Amino acid sequence: MPSVELIAVGTELLLGQLLDTNTTHVAQRLAESGIDVRATHAIGDNRERIAAAIRSALDRSDGVVTTGGLGPTVDDLTKEAVCDALGVGTELYEPALRQMEAFFTQIGRTMRPNNRKQAELPAGATPLPNPVGTAPGFVAFDARGKFVACMPGVPREMKPMLSERLLPLLRERFALGSAIYTRVIHTINVGESEIDHRIDDLFRAGENPKIAVLAHDYRADVKIMAKAATGAEAEASIGPVQREIERRLEGFVFGTDETTIEAAILCALESRGEKVAVAESCTGGRIAAALTSVPGASKSFVGGVVAYDNAVKVSELSVDPATIAREGAVSETVALEMAQGARRRFGADVALATTGIAGPGGGSAEKPVGLVWIALDSSEGPQAWRFLLRGDRSAIQSRATTAGLGIMWRRCVGKERSPA
Ligand code: ATP
Ligand code: MG
Repeated sequence: MPSVELIAVGTELLLGQLLDTNTTHVAQRLAESGIDVRATHAIGDNRERIAAAIRSALDRSDGVVTTGGLGPTVDDLTKEAVCDALGVGTELYEPALRQMEAFFTQIGRTMRPNNRKQAELPAGATPLPNPVGTAPGFVAFDARGKFVACMPGVPREMKPMLSERLLPLLRERFALGSAIYTRVIHTINVGESEIDHRIDDLFRAGENPKIAVLAHDYRADVKIMAKAATGAEAEASIGPVQREIERRLEGFVFGTDETTIEAAILCALESRGEKVAVAESCTGGRIAAALTSVPGASKSFVGGVVAYDNAVKVSELSVDPATIAREGAVSETVALEMAQGARRRFGADVALATTGIAGPGGGSAEKPVGLVWIALDSSEGPQAWRFLLRGDRSAIQSRATTAGLGIMWRRCVGKERSPA
């Protein structure tokens, strides 16, 4: 298996001003293609240091893939550094120059000499045309046949260049037979340790396919990874493991791969012909935002109210002021009354309500920060659940959102089990 090191170029990365999503993306795609990513690096906009990083990576590995620093400005130094590392000069790549001239004519601007620099490549390099932007990428080779592939830093330009140009080139050069195929099983309402407990033996069963549990904010996924020569071979290896995991986690699996919890909820609601509404206090509209992010949500999502102030809970949801005075806004009864009020108010079949203390202030011994009540009302009657969530304000809000969606999903797929 060929080994590669990744170098992300950019001083912004070192200052913590830019999240290095390019490395994650390139690493993922290379791994899927059966290329071993041995190390990843971030280097500032410094010609000597970029050249040194390329040189030492080439001593260890079969190739280097860089992103960033291919633009026309003085701090774009990747190409120069590659020339230094390989001991070559640059040469003009005519098609890129013509593409650039056409681009500048089209936008009605004059091309500057520094743009011309972008059409120069290290001598002998294979260009990687850029269908989206002006700067082409390239693959250059050293005397040992090791390669340096350079792509722009802008993700929108880098991604198609990687999948349409660089990966096919590497597949051919290294005659890559096998690739890594993945399937993600999404779960909700069950903890990571419970999943672990239930599928523990499958983890140890072998390396291919390999299984991993990925924890999210108040949710977890099981990822199955198989190395295979073809999609069909991968399916044959992943399929049985997937079915076994789904059997063991029955009642908690809402979908695979691209499926989201909100999409799963809306799909279930639609097939039941039911409408849903929400009344949100501590989640501040996040549950409504999640549901409306799904195309076609209007078929099943009616609407909701962010009932933050007690006065709004009373006026919009008919919560009894006496209940708030007696039990407090963060209480089981208020959550239940909010859900019932929203169901009536919006004429929905199902209504979900949240009320809680997101912090950092407002907690007490009896009602600490993180205490959240979530209630659901439907024709089967109202029901409420108590959560004690960890984390800072935004973590508590996002966990409460997930918990609320989990309750809604369980109701929609008709599972009666109480949340974990
Ligand atoms: P340009 O022609 O825009 O100068 P470039 O190839 O020189 O492109 P950079 O100047 O290094 O690339 O980065 C341009 C922009 O691309 C950055 O401001 C940032 O938005 C994005 N970018 C660069 N590197 C990364 C990275 N590693 N992860 C995510 N985004 C990145
Ligand atoms: Mg740049």
